[in-house]
Amino acid sequence: MNNLEEQAKIVNATEQRAPQSDMAAASAAMDGVAAAALRSVLQRVQQAVERAGRDSQQIRVVAVSKTKPVSVIRQVYDAGHRFFGENYVQEIVEKAPQLPGDIEWHFIGNLQSNKAKPLLAGVPNLAMVESVDDEKIANHLDRVVGNLGRKRLKVLIQVNTSGEESKSGVEPSACVELAKHVNQNCQNLEFCGLMTIGMLDYSSTPENFKTLANCRSEVCKALGMPEEQCELSMGMSNDFEQAIEMGSTNVRIGSTIFGPREYPKKQ
Ligand SMILES: *Cc1c(COP(=O)(O)O)cnc(C)c1O
Repeated sequence: MNNLEEQAKIVNATEQRAPQSDMAAASAAMDGVAAAALRSVLQRVQQAVERAGRDSQQIRVVAVSKTKPVSVIRQVYDAGHRFFGENYVQEIVEKAPQLPGDIEWHFIGNLQSNKAKPLLAGVPNLAMVESVDDEKIANHLDRVVGNLGRKRLKVLIQVNTSGEESKSGVEPSACVELAKHVNQNCQNLEFCGLMTIGMLDYSSTPENFKTLANCRSEVCKALGMPEEQCELSMGMSNDFEQAIEMGSTNVRIGSTIFGPREYPKKQ
């Protein structure tokens, strides 16, 4: 997957660059904020990995850049990071082409069927869709990948682990059926694991993480898939360390890297 120690080294090296002018100094200072936040996150991830007796190669840190301008994403990229996440199609198709092609983009938002094509056509370096939550969207993605002649698209199935009514995520009891569907009927998709947001207010409890891990056991049993090959995308800014200790392979971290989100004021 990715190597946290390598990522941290690159960040350190980048931070030691000397500023060349006032403008450069100002931007280097901003660069420093995001880079330092990233470095601190990577260190905390590393510590959680060690506490859990896991291997840092098993954890990917997705920097969730929603609402953040391309210039700020670029700073985190320049600090050595390559995994970024967005949750609105319009936003990712606008930003991705302005940024380097070796970024691995993760789409983590609710996806409507008619947006599958603009998403895949607009982001050639889309690495994964983490938010597949019904057969319809799986079928649409499968068809669009085929039509575009794109390589197989990695997908996760989003599970609603909150126990509450929600418009996104399958119920835990339905995750096996959907995983089977993707695996058997969507040749252009690669089923890679499960994702959860946690509670409806985007907080998480240990129960959310346990529920997702239980879903993985059932899915792996049903598909004859080794659990080590089935990802768990869980843990965000406020709970990523606990998520890692409970088996997460993919943490999605926004505000702790980029600061609070800046939503445009509605007129
Ligand atoms: C915004 C978002 C995140 C990041 O949230 P933070 O609490 O800022 O880290 C993670 N996952 C999803 C699906 C999101 O929409």
